[in-house]
Amino acid sequence: MAWRSSGESLAELVGNLCANRMITDDRVKQAFLSVDRAHYATRSPYKDAPQSIGHGVTISAPHMHALAVQHLMPYVVPDAAEGRGGPRILDIGSGSGYLTHLLAELAGPQGEVVGVEHISELCETGRANMAKSEGGRAHLESGQVKFVVGDGRKGAPSPLADGGFDAIHVGASAAKLHTELLDQLRSPGRIFIPMDDEGDHGAGNQSVWTIDKAADGTVTKKRLFGVRYVPLTDAPR
Ligand code: SAH
Repeated sequence: MAWRSSGESLAELVGNLCANRMITDDRVKQAFLSVDRAHYATRSPYKDAPQSIGHGVTISAPHMHALAVQHLMPYVVPDAAEGRGGPRILDIGSGSGYLTHLLAELAGPQGEVVGVEHISELCETGRANMAKSEGGRAHLESGQVKFVVGDGRKGAPSPLADGGFDAIHVGASAAKLHTELLDQLRSPGRIFIPMDDEGDHGAGNQSVWTIDKAADGTVTKKRLFGVRYVPLTDAPR
């Protein structure tokens, strides 16, 4: 599936993602059209495949970004946090900063997005990529989007974690569901997380899960599909 939504332009890529039902919600489509991937992936930005962003990691493929966002709806849009100002979203392993920007577009002007990245140079790259567009600069200047260096296995550092998050996106495969992430999830709230398959012993088999916390605090876990992400690890020295 990695190549099948590729396009020569942003409009063509988004059109193909819609035609292939990777994007089914018009709000997601509009957000994709408003953030130019070329600011985040310098080579082949409209190819539906992961691209190197240095440091041994990749910007995820467009169809994976689409699936992640689709599965986080409706926790990332303004009505998710009605009466509380706007949704608060955590993007762990922010890498290129692309998804952080996309989530900010969906969250609306009252929303907040925190990107956590453990490679400090990449954290800075994410911020710099976002500053390439007027819309991105506005999110940074308003404080609506913040990039911080940290170990995402612990969630967001304090005080950014205060109040919790309506949605948590994890962009690298976790060895397990870290309790800090569940602790930082609001009720109701949803985590989108790739995790190593149980008993896999490092063979690289992973699955994406959604972890839902209902209004009464009940937690439900659902396996979605098999994937290949870079691992959620210790920071390289
Ligand atoms: N959503 C990003 C994904 C980048 S790849 C994008 O599409 O651009 C995964 C990212 O997770 C990498 O940038 C990697 O450095 C980061 N990462 C890995 N382990 C981490 C950890 N423990 N804490 C924070 N970030 C981590």
